Amino acid sequence: MVKGSCLCKATQFEVARPPADVADCNCSSCSKRGALWAYYDEAEFRLTTAPERVSTFQWGDYMMKLHYCGVCGCATYNEGPVWKDGEIDFSVNRIGVNARLFDDFDLAAVPVRHVNGKDA
Ligand SMILES: [Zn+2]
Repeated sequence: MVKGSCLCKATQFEVARPPADVADCNCSSCSKRGALWAYYDEAEFRLTTAPERVSTFQWGDYMMKLHYCGVCGCATYNEGPVWKDGEIDFSVNRIGVNARLFDDFDLAAVPVRHVNGKDA
């Protein structure tokens, strides 16, 4: 299990396992929010602080919920549907956690996958 938190600790969470890799995506949202994403199934992610502390930004096609800490501004995690065989499956939620927020974790040891979201 790996624990994570935003800068001010208002948002804290746990994931079931360390990430095998993290995604560095160059789309406008990911690059401007400055996150490295580790992906998990819903069952592998647990928010350990009150959900009322989570602020949410949505834009564009409104498919993704981009969560952030409303107190300190850190991008914390995203929620969105999965893609299966080129189609969106809204029945399955995938959680993208900002791996930069993991505590006591050696992020430099995890391979970075460069994702060309800008041209997707
Ligand atoms: Zn915070």
